[in-house]
Amino acid sequence: MKYEEVIAITKENLETIFPGLGYTSLDMEGANVVLYSKESYKFLEDPEKIKKLAQSIRKRIIIRPDSSSLMDEKEAEEKIRKIMPEGVSISDIFFDHESGEVLIEVDDPERIQAYDSQIIATIRKDVKWAPRIIRTPPIRSATIRMVREFLKAESDERRKFLRNLAKRISRDPLPGENFARLTCLGAWREVGRASSLLMTKSSKIMIDCGLDPAAVDTDDPASGAPYLSAPELWPLNSVDGVVLTHSHMDHSGFLPYLFSIGYDGPVYMTAPARDLLLLLLMDYVKLGMSENRKVPYKMEDVRSLIRHTVTLNYNETTDISPDVRVTLRNAGHILGSSVVHFHIGEGFHNLLMSGDIKYMNSWLFNAADSRLPRVETFVTESTYGGRNDFQPSRQEAGERLGQIIRLAAERKGKVLIPVFAVGRSQEVMLVLEEKYRLGEIPKIPVYLDGMIYEATSIHTAYPEYLNSNLRDLITRKKENPFLSDIFVRVDAPETRENIVSDVGPLVVLATSGMMNGGPVIEYFSNWADDERNFLLFVGYQAEGTLGRRILSGAKQINVRKNDGLKEVKIGMTVDTVDGFSGHSDRRQLMKYIEALEFKPKRILVNHGDASKATEFARALSLKFGVESYAPYNLETVRLR
Ligand SMILES: [Zn+2]
Ligand SMILES: [Zn+2]
Repeated sequence: MKYEEVIAITKENLETIFPGLGYTSLDMEGANVVLYSKESYKFLEDPEKIKKLAQSIRKRIIIRPDSSSLMDEKEAEEKIRKIMPEGVSISDIFFDHESGEVLIEVDDPERIQAYDSQIIATIRKDVKWAPRIIRTPPIRSATIRMVREFLKAESDERRKFLRNLAKRISRDPLPGENFARLTCLGAWREVGRASSLLMTKSSKIMIDCGLDPAAVDTDDPASGAPYLSAPELWPLNSVDGVVLTHSHMDHSGFLPYLFSIGYDGPVYMTAPARDLLLLLLMDYVKLGMSENRKVPYKMEDVRSLIRHTVTLNYNETTDISPDVRVTLRNAGHILGSSVVHFHIGEGFHNLLMSGDIKYMNSWLFNAADSRLPRVETFVTESTYGGRNDFQPSRQEAGERLGQIIRLAAERKGKVLIPVFAVGRSQEVMLVLEEKYRLGEIPKIPVYLDGMIYEATSIHTAYPEYLNSNLRDLITRKKENPFLSDIFVRVDAPETRENIVSDVGPLVVLATSGMMNGGPVIEYFSNWADDERNFLLFVGYQAEGTLGRRILSGAKQINVRKNDGLKEVKIGMTVDTVDGFSGHSDRRQLMKYIEALEFKPKRILVNHGDASKATEFARALSLKFGVESYAPYNLETVRLR
């Protein structure tokens, strides 16, 4: 349905469903219909009718207060504080002009629910802003604040962008036969620079746009881009949207670059993925500058990206072009990571992209969601898809980590653990906290360097994305494991210098996870020659990275320091603890496919070393009796 039609039909139906209720404007933003009214609360009093209206136009309806009716922020804040029942303390209030919402942070949202919707209704009526009660985050995140302030400042621009997007999505499909094809732009027969392009009769959708971690620390980081010059992508404004599976740099690191070369369409992802993304990209740009490395884009391009971000909830189906609907599902890999389902041409074809996927309950998340509607083509990652890639259980991994910490404590050594700021860090933290609490490891400080603490705070702001066990711990203040006193945040260069010269024993978690730059290099270059120390890998080391070279047994390494190259001899114990991975191992990948209700007709394999991807594809063909292979980068596969 075209934009104008949607608006006209909604108007008609409004008159029958909500007779007599006034509104100031009716518009579309992205895939949603938005109604502005000076009496928005009157609409919201009747959720059944809103549902009916939504069903009648097959769109989501968002009711917002008209901006002219909104009470002045200061006055509204005073009023809200008065309305709150006794004993409820408000820790922060934030007015969101894009949505007309007022976010009210309280310590104990359940208490307000106990007073039922009365309070919400009163606030709505009195101040006209739409109240949303949220829990005071246990650790404040500067990034989340920054995203809120930024979107507030950009709210007019955003509204314009979302209206144009709505018109674009609801344009008429092109004539002719349906088709669906997938062009491989990166992370096919390799790990890193993940990117693919879905093309249908009427639209083009990009999935991920990552960087190659092996190229970050070179003279030409742009050499680590996906194949963005592929003709299928051009002109760039022919791309309807980008869907991001998750915020890891090997999936997201070249998104800002797209904006620097003229892309100005939407990028879809979950809300926590957006916040983590901003954190990681800012860190990448800043660190690049401070380490005198080239970065292929500027902070301004990162801001453009955030301005064009459209957040989606898990399990919410959204039109993103005239013939493609998208649904994000929990992937179990990192906070806000998604398995992406594309519904093409009203059931003509269904494509499922795994992104990075963990099909096992972890310390942080539920296992990836396999309850999916029809899937004809499944694209699966294969990082640990090799014949011998069996990951030990979480339990075993925890035991091994505990052993090493105890040994290091006896030797008075230091344990350096290179980690991604997002994902592995939090898992390792949870295990260390538990072992310490149970008395299984001695109390030695665990230093967190390089965005880990900030990434952790973003996790605690989205408890609904965590598994229920951790969610409970976090919301009960005294038991929040991330607030344990064994963790020490490294927030200044002087602190780092002190830790480097500390006698130990101690543990440091530092980025980056594959040792391509970041603070981990500083610790490593100072501690590498001491035999009492440990270098402990807990995550995947991609080909071409320093981490992979050390893991392969290199005894002498040149590391890049500000003033040139430094030669480092490795005497410390280099070890790996498997079982912390956010990736499924071979067995779990197969189990996931088994768990899918509708067996895919074809399985494409990506995100794995060439030999693993090809062998895994052969194994899938045999096991499931379906067509399965690992395409090369730049191949285009006809899906139907
Ligand atoms: Zn990942
Ligand atoms: Zn990845």
